[in-house]
Amino acid sequence: MPTFQSIRRGGKTLAAAGLALACLLPVGAASQPQVQPPLVQTVGRPVQAPERRPEDLPALLAPYGLAEGEREVLSARMEGDGLLLACLRRGELSRFDLSCLALPNGRPDRLERYRACREASPELETAQVVMRVNMDLDREFYVDPVVLEDPAALDVLVNKYYALPQDYVPQLERLGNTYGSGSLRAEAARAFREMADQAREDGVTLRSVSAYRSYASQKSTYNRYLRQNSQKTTDTFSARPGHSEHQTGLALDINVASTRARFEDTPAYAWLQEHCAQYGFILRYPQGKSEITGYRFEPWHYRYVGVEAARVCMSQGLTYEEYLALQPVTPVQSALDETLI
Ligand SMILES: [Zn+2]
Repeated sequence: MPTFQSIRRGGKTLAAAGLALACLLPVGAASQPQVQPPLVQTVGRPVQAPERRPEDLPALLAPYGLAEGEREVLSARMEGDGLLLACLRRGELSRFDLSCLALPNGRPDRLERYRACREASPELETAQVVMRVNMDLDREFYVDPVVLEDPAALDVLVNKYYALPQDYVPQLERLGNTYGSGSLRAEAARAFREMADQAREDGVTLRSVSAYRSYASQKSTYNRYLRQNSQKTTDTFSARPGHSEHQTGLALDINVASTRARFEDTPAYAWLQEHCAQYGFILRYPQGKSEITGYRFEPWHYRYVGVEAARVCMSQGLTYEEYLALQPVTPVQSALDETLI
């Protein structure tokens, strides 16, 4: 489950696989957070034919004391997902499970992890549990990271849980001298040039000081920091190789790349806060979000995510992790994969 884009594409099979696993376990079973099983494990698993009109659904859901809105979401999901319905019929879904799945962003493939998170942190609201697990915060940074299957996706999520393949090199183009050093992917390069041009008209200079970085160069950068700092400290400001957004060719450091420069106090930072989303960029490591991103405030680091996502993130103060974790589960994600039947 590497990126949101690939979640949409491969979600059917993964969702069904996750749920099949969840259904085998007793409700509330504690378990170690785990990486999604590979697709091959879904072959040969027992599947249940989807029912288009489960007439007994209202009666099945009645005992759980759910709100009307929750019942509506669940009914829509169960109609297209025979496996989920079978779990309900067998009494394998708890009130908590159903509350998770009644949330627009509640993912069947993560049900087992929702249960474990709830058990570990009973003080959390259901929506908080779902967010936490959707952001992978129930896992440890850098433990069993997932290597991305589709590293070229424009909405790719690269962080301490998801890594780029070591040999991944995007198609790049140079920004050009006027725009500072380095290269980005075409979409991001174009957007950065437009943004810098407009900033210049507004009397603000924006220049790249670091854009694409290869796996090898990130490795040597990280190792250099590691010689001067503990790993714990290094990890707060430098990505381990494979985990740097700079390797996507979609991220860059603007004007400075150092906390000492106090970029957050400059007119350029203020301009970016106001305008970067118009060009599809987000402030990737905002202040006060270290628990989610794993990085301290980096006022100079921007990531191209496209205008739509950028507007939501910047106007609502969301990290990219939060934005993706809030996305509603699509019917494709929650439905049983009919090709397996
Ligand atoms: Zn950076």
